[in-house]
Amino acid sequence: MKIAVVGTGYVGLVTGTCFAETGNDVTCVDIDQKKVDKLSNGQITIYEPGLEKLFLRNLREERLRFTTSLEDGIKDATIIFLALPTPPGEDGSADLKYVLGVADHLGKILTGYKVIIDKSTVPVGTAEKVHAAIAKNCTCEFDVVSNPEFLREGVAVEDFMKPDRVVIGTDSDKARKIMSELYAPFVRQGNPIIFMDERSAELTKYAANSFLATKITFMNEIALLCEKLNADVDMVRRGIGSDERIGKRFLFPGIGYGGSCFPKDVQALVKSATGVGYDFKILNAVMDINEGMKLHLVPKIKKYFKGNLKGRKFALWGLAFKPNTDDIREAPALYIIDALVAEGAEVTVFDPEAMNNVRSVIGDKVKYADSQYDALTGADALVIATEWNEFRTPNFLKMVTVLKNKVIFDGRNLFDTDAIKELGFYYESVGRAVAVPTNHK
Ligand code: NAD
Repeated sequence: MKIAVVGTGYVGLVTGTCFAETGNDVTCVDIDQKKVDKLSNGQITIYEPGLEKLFLRNLREERLRFTTSLEDGIKDATIIFLALPTPPGEDGSADLKYVLGVADHLGKILTGYKVIIDKSTVPVGTAEKVHAAIAKNCTCEFDVVSNPEFLREGVAVEDFMKPDRVVIGTDSDKARKIMSELYAPFVRQGNPIIFMDERSAELTKYAANSFLATKITFMNEIALLCEKLNADVDMVRRGIGSDERIGKRFLFPGIGYGGSCFPKDVQALVKSATGVGYDFKILNAVMDINEGMKLHLVPKIKKYFKGNLKGRKFALWGLAFKPNTDDIREAPALYIIDALVAEGAEVTVFDPEAMNNVRSVIGDKVKYADSQYDALTGADALVIATEWNEFRTPNFLKMVTVLKNKVIFDGRNLFDTDAIKELGFYYESVGRAVAVPTNHK
């Protein structure tokens, strides 16, 4: 099949590459000339495990190409995916200017039947708006389909190649047939394609992300309560997670969710609800609690240093909003950096993938270390904000030689509290007892 993907960011590049991998001819379109040049020259623009290999193979075999021209990108394609940004507008609702702008443009250049597919996360009613924007200037036959994307950054290729389910919203038999054929290689193991109307498909994506954000936030509140009641959230997590109705996943407490999706999608769903006169109380609480969680470690750090952080040096491990990605959008680490620097502290950071992205956003507000151990040199304490695997079993002996104090504030509960105490570290985490070694001053 001939496919165009408009918007070549995290979702567009993974979508385009994975469809090329299953034998389709894919043209990815992006307005960013630099990005298109890099990709055309075989330089990948995002870090995503397993993606580069597929990207290079399909580029070499000429099933994948890149252009800045929408006309050029769609000229041979029957299937056009929109993987465009839907950032929060001023009032928090999803800003559809990119999606509707491209739809308007498509209306002026479409010839012959096309299926236009919303892969961006868009509010209920967007498929109708996209349809209207195209139809305004176009008399040819086309269908607009809602096909929300559920991939997770960090495991995006795996999620795309083996999705738990594919959700497709359409009332057109023709589009339904094309979408079934397109996704057939991805659902061979019996994972379902769930067909529904466009509006339900659009809401499904928001409901999924909001539910997951709520599950995380619920656990974070249990962790806060554990700190007050001297209970251990790890034990509670294991105790409830073995109940099949609850499940083990998304029960890990920490310093809040971030990223490009949960914060904006929860906010956008609240706005959609408000727009139809519904006050979505749970989600308002979720947003409020999550804001607090991002800075949960800061008062603990301040208390430990007796209210004065001026001139203190901190090492910060982890900048990406979660491991296995270089995405720093809404990353809790950035909020912690702001808070510590505002108190007069000096912060040296290390992240395996996200350093360049952080440098381009906050420049020399922090120092950048070459390794996780370099970051510790002369530090009064280590702060952990992202649960990268390499932080889970560090060389503690090496850490001790470079850290000024054996003090750790861990926003991701990476270490066993008894074991770390044995090693002589003062250790504060989320929802668990503070580990204080006997000889700690
Ligand atoms: P992104 O910002 O990484 O990529 C968007 C791309 O679109 C950019 O490269 C940008 O240059 C390009 N673009 C903007 N205007 C354009 C135009 N007029 N023509 C062509 N290209 C244009 O965004 P993303 O993370 O890929 O997200 C895209 C959509 O998918 C959003 O709605 C998001 O909510 C949704 N989504 C994201 C994820 C995720 O994990 N990132 C997962 C599921 C769904």
